[in-house]
Amino acid sequence: MSTVLAPDIAAVLLDEAALAGLVAELAAQLNRDYGQRPVLLLGVLNGACIFVADLVRRLRMPLELDFVGVASYGDAASSSGQVTWTKPPSRDLAGREVLLVEDIVDTGVTLRALQRTLLAARPASLATVALLSKPARRQVEVPVEYLGIAIPDEFVVGYGLDYAQAYRQLPYVGILRREVWEHR
Ligand code: 5GP
Repeated sequence: MSTVLAPDIAAVLLDEAALAGLVAELAAQLNRDYGQRPVLLLGVLNGACIFVADLVRRLRMPLELDFVGVASYGDAASSSGQVTWTKPPSRDLAGREVLLVEDIVDTGVTLRALQRTLLAARPASLATVALLSKPARRQVEVPVEYLGIAIPDEFVVGYGLDYAQAYRQLPYVGILRREVWEHR
């Protein structure tokens, strides 16, 4: 299927076939590592919603699906390193094997605060799955046990990722044109 380029997109970084390949590879790793151990999967709203939807359909272990929301970038991490929930987990995490599923790791600040907050709830285990990572932007070290792919330092949208809440529905991950965001 050809990819129709939206006008604000400078280039397609990952087309639908590439994304499907990454999701299949991540799912295979998770299926191998977890076997039939029950998992509580926490998707991070809103960006990870499409990735989560594709990923869970390839997972074979008993799985409970939940979502969490955190206060937006900038105020996501308080001085205590804990996040402010806009939507906390619906379930008690104590004793559970928790898989945290993120769209993209940038500075790592949000993810580190998320991991600390979740670990305080005493899960049996916590592992993080991220579709994308921008290692050049990292400010804090965070463990990401399952990574789809490292990408260059570009602002990307699509496949759940937004700019000002737009572009989430694009079926590919594309680089947003500079003119769209640099004069704001
Ligand atoms: P961090 O705390 O790692 O700097 O920020 C992670 C969050 O920033 C992601 O969950 C995402 O919401 C946002 N973010 C970082 N880089 C990008 C990007 O290239 N595109 C979009 N749409 N969001 C990004």
